[in-house]
Amino acid sequence: MAVSLSVYCDCHQTLRALPGDMDHSAHPSGLLEASDVGSQKERVVTEEEWLEKWEMGNIGFHKEEGNPLLQKYLDVLLNGRSGLRIFFPLCGKAVEMKWLADMGHSVVGVEISEQAVKDFFSEHSLPYCEEPVPEISGAKMFQSTSGNISLYCCSMYDLSSSIVGKFDGVWDRGALVAVNPCDRQRYASLMISLVEKNSSYLLVTVSYDPNKHKGPPFYVPESEIKSLFGNCCEIRCLEKVDDFSERHKQWGLDYFLEPLQVDAVCLAFCNSASPTSSPGSVAAAVQTLFMGHWPCTRLGREVGSCCKLVLSIPVNICQVKSWQ
Ligand code: SAH
Repeated sequence: MAVSLSVYCDCHQTLRALPGDMDHSAHPSGLLEASDVGSQKERVVTEEEWLEKWEMGNIGFHKEEGNPLLQKYLDVLLNGRSGLRIFFPLCGKAVEMKWLADMGHSVVGVEISEQAVKDFFSEHSLPYCEEPVPEISGAKMFQSTSGNISLYCCSMYDLSSSIVGKFDGVWDRGALVAVNPCDRQRYASLMISLVEKNSSYLLVTVSYDPNKHKGPPFYVPESEIKSLFGNCCEIRCLEKVDDFSERHKQWGLDYFLEPLQVDAVCLAFCNSASPTSSPGSVAAAVQTLFMGHWPCTRLGREVGSCCKLVLSIPVNICQVKSWQ
């Protein structure tokens, strides 16, 4: 599938747009094969090791300033909806939970470290209460007094939709990539069971040479993302960001990209408009799902990575010329 990749520098300014292929190498140099996960396949990080990282303050993954990709693709996550239930798997003390709660959404997170959960509330000066979770032995739920942020302190794998309900959106940054490679299938199945049908799932993964760093974060090849989620979700690569920093240099790497994946709004659209659909039916599906909600320019930007759209302006009609 030919797509245009925009490569960004650290300050998030476009350096250049490259022709690329989202199925192949993560880096424009082509250094990395999609299926090459090196020795990471066998690696296991225990819950105790995660707790120790928090105790030792070894939490380089935490970003005080939050992730600019969420701001950038917020519209894709929300898709014009308000008052959503948004899930943060393996949430740590991600500041993005506060952003979304402040926008009027209801946030639910899960995190194994009680310290991380308590730090989150205290660092944002949010009063909270804590209570046991009857269905999960030893688990606690910490909830902001205002009720819009609920953080479960337990293993992610103890959750189920009967305990936490289902979600309209997921922000998965530092989550799938933190899951032990042997647990990815279990994680993906759980995530799929926790989302509503037309939910939006933003997934940030990292691409680097897995022979040079043992992880986490682990390298998750795009082929694997497809096999984990592709049966029930349409996956689009929104962008690949060059996030290379001093920290990554210390790992012995020479590149580090964060592709942002999404099943998002395209789920229903792509279900009804398969590559074999006639251009007319594809256009009809596009119109049904998007028109009236998004302006033509926006439609071109969002859907343009999936199929080639020719927009006739100013009329709300788009014609699909070809599918990838
Ligand atoms: N998403 C967060 C944190 C990423 S690091 C962010 O963007 O900052 C991964 C987090 O997952 C760590 O805080 C770790 O303590 C937590 N974790 C690891 N295994 C877990 C599990 N099985 N269940 C719940 N949390 C887990």
